[in-house]
Amino acid sequence: MLIVMKPTAVDSDIRTVEERVEQLGFFAKTLPGAQRTAIAITGNPGPIPSDYFACLKGVKEVVRVSSPYKLVSREVMPEDTIIKFANGVRLGGSNFHVMAGPCSVENRELLLSTARHVKAAGATFLRGGAFKPRTSPYAFQGLKEEGLKLLAEAREETGLLIITEVKDTETLPLVAQYTDILQIGARNMQNFSLLEAAGRQDKPVMLKRGMSATIKELLMAAEYIVNAGNNQVILCERGIRTFETMTRNTFDVGAIHMLRRLTHLPILADPSHGIGVWHGVPALARAAVVAGAQGLIIEVHPRPADALSDGPQSLKPKKFEQLMEQIRAIRVVLNRTPERVAGETLDA
Ligand code: PEP
Ligand code: MN
Repeated sequence: MLIVMKPTAVDSDIRTVEERVEQLGFFAKTLPGAQRTAIAITGNPGPIPSDYFACLKGVKEVVRVSSPYKLVSREVMPEDTIIKFANGVRLGGSNFHVMAGPCSVENRELLLSTARHVKAAGATFLRGGAFKPRTSPYAFQGLKEEGLKLLAEAREETGLLIITEVKDTETLPLVAQYTDILQIGARNMQNFSLLEAAGRQDKPVMLKRGMSATIKELLMAAEYIVNAGNNQVILCERGIRTFETMTRNTFDVGAIHMLRRLTHLPILADPSHGIGVWHGVPALARAAVVAGAQGLIIEVHPRPADALSDGPQSLKPKKFEQLMEQIRAIRVVLNRTPERVAGETLDA
């Protein structure tokens, strides 16, 4: 249930509603918006009579929220979530950002040179895994804290923000000390303890779609993080498992469109894991931008043949630079100016 307050409602009116929710033994989550404040009720096993709240001062209307994901839904918050970083970067809404870098942090020289390249091409975030969830226990598992230190050094030198994967609850505090965004990978999308632990952090989280997860399951996984207290969640379409074997995954471009309608959270796309071969990455990246993605995460490696993970799907810096030019041109053609983009996607 959602209690929408009148624009004239004052703090004490909001507090009264919150107290009534708590008296009933439920949780009140207040969502301040530019147009109006709304209070979402969670933890109720069934419907609550709407007149419990309708008569309170400052209440405009009481709306039943039908979806099992509430806090992340557009029903509860119509405006796009915008995540603000310390250096002024804003993610979500009409902003568009590219995160790029190697699949894994391998060594200092490779990371720093890749960081310089992607920065020069227009990326705002450097990606790179330090704790790698590998299918085989014998594959490269990442440089761990040493990798995090190298990412921090690259941020220091280039001014790029960093995003890196957190694999489990044990290493979460360590990863959170270094990174600007905590990445939760496809294999962990329904690791509920990790989702809840990330929900207790004061740090943006990028949640990647599970290999066999539906859009609804992705949204419910995001709900765990927001319900635990962290509103700064980004979703990422990275392809799903289908019967197709010619590509590594089947990139679900329709999911980008659906997610933009269903949730206020920023939606990113990962064309690298989405197709698994470098020559397909630009095509999927362009498609994702057209479909409404608010950013991309792309694997870039100066020597893909030597990469310790995901070399076949990594773009060389030159190809990445060309792709960035194409994306800029596409955004001009689409007239994705800051004022128009959100409405345009939703009305489509
Ligand atoms: C990655 O980003 O390198 C990665 C492991 O991604 P995913 O979780 O989508 O497989
Ligand atoms: Mn990878």
